[in-house]
This record gives sequence, structure tokens and C-alpha cells, in this order.
Amino acid sequence: MGRRVEVVIVGGGPAGLSTALFLSAFAPDLAARTVLLERARYPRDKFCAGGVGARADRLLESVGVHVEVPSVPLCAVSASWGPGRTLARLEGMGRVVRRFEFDAALARRSRETPVELREGVTVSGIRRHPDRLVVDTDRGPIETRAVVGADGVGSIVRRALGLPRGEIHAQALELDTEITANDPPRDTIHFDLTDSTLDGYIWDFPTLVDGRPLVCRGIYHVRVGERGRPSDIEAKLARYLAARGLDIARCKKKRFAERGIAWAEPMAAPGVLLIGEAAGIDGLTGEGIAQGIQYGALAGRYLAETLGAGRTDFRTWRSFVKGERLGQDLALRSLLMRTFYGPDRSVIEPFLAESSAFYEVALQVFAGLAIDPESVRRLIGEVARYVGRTGWSTLRDWPERRRAFALAREAARHTGTSPAAATETAPNGETTEAAQ
Ligand SMILES: Cc1cc2nc3c(=O)[nH]c(=O)nc-3n(C[C@H](O)[C@H](O)[C@H](O)COP(=O)(O)OP(=O)(O)OC[C@H]3O[C@@H](n4cnc5c(N)ncnc54)[C@H](O)[C@@H]3O)c2cc1C
Repeated sequence: MGRRVEVVIVGGGPAGLSTALFLSAFAPDLAARTVLLERARYPRDKFCAGGVGARADRLLESVGVHVEVPSVPLCAVSASWGPGRTLARLEGMGRVVRRFEFDAALARRSRETPVELREGVTVSGIRRHPDRLVVDTDRGPIETRAVVGADGVGSIVRRALGLPRGEIHAQALELDTEITANDPPRDTIHFDLTDSTLDGYIWDFPTLVDGRPLVCRGIYHVRVGERGRPSDIEAKLARYLAARGLDIARCKKKRFAERGIAWAEPMAAPGVLLIGEAAGIDGLTGEGIAQGIQYGALAGRYLAETLGAGRTDFRTWRSFVKGERLGQDLALRSLLMRTFYGPDRSVIEPFLAESSAFYEVALQVFAGLAIDPESVRRLIGEVARYVGRTGWSTLRDWPERRRAFALAREAARHTGTSPAAATETAPNGETTEAAQ
């Protein structure tokens, strides 16, 4: 039998590398008996638009890690909707990176930790023995107490647990082009949501390729189970580009799948944790870099606590994630995803197209800032006015409203907003569940 370690991390993307960094910070002895297996060699590419919320950098900086790579700093997000256009600004909200450079830099920092990083090793399966797990690789087996599945959307670890590919799955198609006269300023990322037949959006992100300022554009389309609507995303993106004088046939197209989180699906088994896109990221936007890093930070802390206490059942992993900011953020985004990309889009789209406080709060979350209670109060006021204008039945008929109220209550608890403020959302003397 091969060598024996305490933890095997499978996959060296943002999730796996962050697990190594945070495990090293929380439990250096355990990290010294941990190996991270990555099938590629750095620098390796990953199809990705590279938009990273500043919360990822803040989190990494909390363990002394600065990822210095060429980046385009972001200060604004704009969106086109059927009903209009929105622009929200927040200085230092994030940056756009290239994964070729970002992941390699993160790997360099991981190499400075006690975790052994092995490149060019492909995991082919996991075998379970009464007292240990055996990770099979193309370089021989490794015995371990715990496995972290950070191996992305095609996760072999997830398959080894017998789990299906997941309820929320998406396709994204991206390419890089020259800047055109219609493009937003270089500090702004743009989302086009004008096509209501698309359960997703088209994006334009400023990017730097080998020092050249270009625009990374692409289309994201998510499906919820078999009910989701199919879409010819290449044809839609081609039309969007043509309207800007760009010919899709002349661009190098990169297509890849994504997995959104579905809370009903298992995220762990005895001895095995799933994190990052192997578990599921944000299905609303397909954002997964910052989530991968947040998952890695949580996995590092969780492994330090559970293995340190001699436990490997990992029964509490899902509730642990759910109780943290990552879990609450993902839960809220799941709710918006099911509403926005579904028959209830008309309930929420006019509100999103006119709200300003919604973007204030969303950008604070994206950037990893403490949420300003004043922004939350303004958001509640805007919701109240919207519901007052469109009629209370708008919300009463909304199937997801119970979960929305539960999340609002949770958010109010975290931001210190008084439950009394939440009653403002109930016009005509009716009481919302948030206020009960
Ligand atoms: C076109 C596109 C655009 C996107 N744009 C953005 C964006 O702008 N912002 C954003 O935040 N997110 C974006 N995403 C999502 C983001 O890229 C992913 O969610 C993120 O990379 C997930 O990180 P991860 O560490 O979980 O997995 P990954 O980054 O996929 O890393 C998994 C790693 O595991 C390795 N691996 C896989 N199988 C094995 C095996 N059997 N053995 C050993 N190693 C293995 C892989 O080589 C890889 O290095 C985009 C995705 C796509 C497809």
C-alpha cells in the first residue's frame, strides 16, 4: 500500500488551494500531513471571466496572503434590463484577473505552507475501508483519514460518493475581443439581461491579456433540473456581438459547464467534504472564484476542528456552511435564481431594474464589507414602496416568499436592523412573516 496522510485535497483551483492556505493557518501540524493533488501543472488555464469580489482578497489577506497578478480594478457594475438600465458604484469592489495567472500565484503561496502540493497527479477514484480511505491516482494509492473534493464541476470525488451531477447546472461560453465604442468604462463590469427567453445573461468584463486591454464577453445560461429551458447560447451571443460590430466566427470560443448549489443535495459523506464547484456555487450569476476561496477558508477551519477532536463523520458540514456568510449569501442567491429565471420573473424584474439600495447591499456583500444597516433600511423601504405600488398580492402569490422572509429575518439579525423596520414591507395593515 502507498503512503499514509491525514488529509488529501483533490484539485488545486481557488477552493483547493485556499483549503491548503487556511488549514495551514489554523492547524499547521495537520497541514504538514496533508497533500494537495492537482492533475494539471501551473500555470494552467481555466475558462473563466475572472471577475473576483474584493471579499476574496480580504479573506486571503486575513491569513497574510496577497495575490499579486495583473488585474483590472473595478469600481462599478452596470446592467441592462427590459425595463431600463442600472449603474451602481463602490470603490474597490473587486478586480478582473486571468485564471492562468491568478491560480498559479495562489499555488505559489500554497507552496510556502506545510501542505505538500503535487502537480500532474490525476485522481481516479476513492475506496472506503473500515478505518481509512484510499485515494487512487495515476501515481499510486494514498491512504488518508479525510478527503476534500475541490475538483470542480466534473468532480471525480463527487462521483465516487455516487452523487448525480446536480440539480442546478449551467453552460457558459466566453471569448475575448477588442474594445468597442459601446463598451462601458474600464472600471465597470456590465450585465445584459434584456433577453427574457434566456435564463441567464450576457457579460462584458474589462480584461488584460498579456498586458493588452481587451474585453472578455460571454453568455451564461442556467437550468434547474430537467424543467429548465434549453437555449442556443452561441446564436444569442453571436447576435449580441454582431450588434457591436463583432463577428463571433473570428473569435476563439471557450465553452464550459458550471454547477450551482442545491441545498437538498449532500455535501459530505463520512471522511469526505465537497467544496467549491464540486459542491455547488452561485447559480444566479455563476460566480465561483470568491465562493471557492470562502469554501476553502471554511474547510480549513472545519477540518482543524473536527479532525483535531478525532471526528471524521462530517455530518455537520452542510449546516456549518449554511450558518456562515457564504451559506447565507448562496441561499439568498438561490432564491433570486429560482425567481428570476422562472415564471415569477415579472414579480422581481421591475424592482431590480429600479432599486438602488439592492445594489448598495449587493456590492457590499460582493466586496466583503460589513453591511451598512442604513442600506438595509433603505432596501426595506424600497421593497415596501414597490409592493405598495404593485399590490400586496404580488408577494402573496409568490411561491418563494416564505423563504424570502426567513432570509430577510436572518439578514436583519446580522445587520442589527430592527424587526420593526421589516414590518414596513406590509402595506394595508397586513403583517409580513418577517415581522412575526
Ligand atoms: C466561462 C466561465 C466564466 C466564469 N466567470 C467567472 C467570473 O467572472 N467570476 C467568478 O467568480 N467565477 C466565474 N466562473 C466560475 C469559476 O470559474 C468557478 O466556479 C471556479 O473556478 C470554481 O473553483 P474550484 O476551485 O471549485 O474549481 P476549479 O477552479 O474548476 O478547480 C478544480 C481543479 O481540480 C483539478 N482536477 C479536476 N479533476 C481532477 C482529478 N481527477 N485529479 C486531480 N485534479 C483534478 C482541475 O485541474 C482544477 O485545477 C466562470 C466559469 C465559466 C465556465
